[in-house]
Amino acid sequence: MNASEAYWRELGLWPLWVERAAGEAAWPTPTPAPQPASGQLPPALLVPAQGSVPAGGSGSEGLGVPGAPSAAQVSRNPSVEGLTPWEEIQQQVRHCQRCALHHQRQQTVFGTGDAHPVWLFVGEGPGAEEDRQGLPFVGESGQLLDQMLRALGLNRSHQVYIANVVKCRPPHNRTPTHEECQQCLPYLAQQIRWLRPQIIVALGRVAAQALLASDQPLSQLRGQTYAFERIPVRVTWHPAYLLRNPADKAKAWEDLCQAQRLVKGLQATDETASHSDAALSPRIPRDGSADTATT
Ligand code: SF4
Repeated sequence: MNASEAYWRELGLWPLWVERAAGEAAWPTPTPAPQPASGQLPPALLVPAQGSVPAGGSGSEGLGVPGAPSAAQVSRNPSVEGLTPWEEIQQQVRHCQRCALHHQRQQTVFGTGDAHPVWLFVGEGPGAEEDRQGLPFVGESGQLLDQMLRALGLNRSHQVYIANVVKCRPPHNRTPTHEECQQCLPYLAQQIRWLRPQIIVALGRVAAQALLASDQPLSQLRGQTYAFERIPVRVTWHPAYLLRNPADKAKAWEDLCQAQRLVKGLQATDETASHSDAALSPRIPRDGSADTATT
């Protein structure tokens, strides 16, 4: 064991999150997860009925949370006139008292990252350090998440946004209850609707079950592609779990590699489609009259 490995082992962060090309030997050969065709996705988990809000729909009403702010309500709210819809959602969260978690918070933890992310990582809720700093994943599990991002060629300010299901710290870092998640989920839905990431990665059981309106264990939710409002969702373990169970880091890396392949496939499809559109589009000469592309 070299000094570098000993250092990371001491931190409990071994094996390192390294890109497969650079560290092939560090990870087992990934077993491709079953990738059902889009028409074969489990109906109960495809834009689940409870968590589903039709695109352009009325917002959180579809999430079954009476009184939660809808997109229309947020954008019309006269008390926050002059703010962008995104800033209005932030303001709603900052002053939210919808569930008992507001009593003991130091501050809400809204999220952080790129305003136009490719990836959205969703955890369950803030811990003590997050509550203190107002940022998600800043503790030990945040360091591991940063390693995971680096291994994917990402960082938390480039192509990535990080948020939680609940925006206030549960006392003593307990797991948020189903009711607390349901109360807070409309805010996450608003964030997703605004950010429109290309993929969502649910980190841990709570995030996966909340996003997919499922009560299945994480072990059964891993390895497949779901959708939240037509955005693909993949599921893996929460970094805090991986710190306690480092043997599962290799499987989590497989999850992330599968998610990355999915993103690249989607981007390649988009690129092909845009080239096709360009080939079919009429060319507009400088005089403004349309011209048909010749072959
Ligand atoms: S956890 Fe969410 S719903 Fe509960 S008070 Fe905080 S922001 Fe509001």
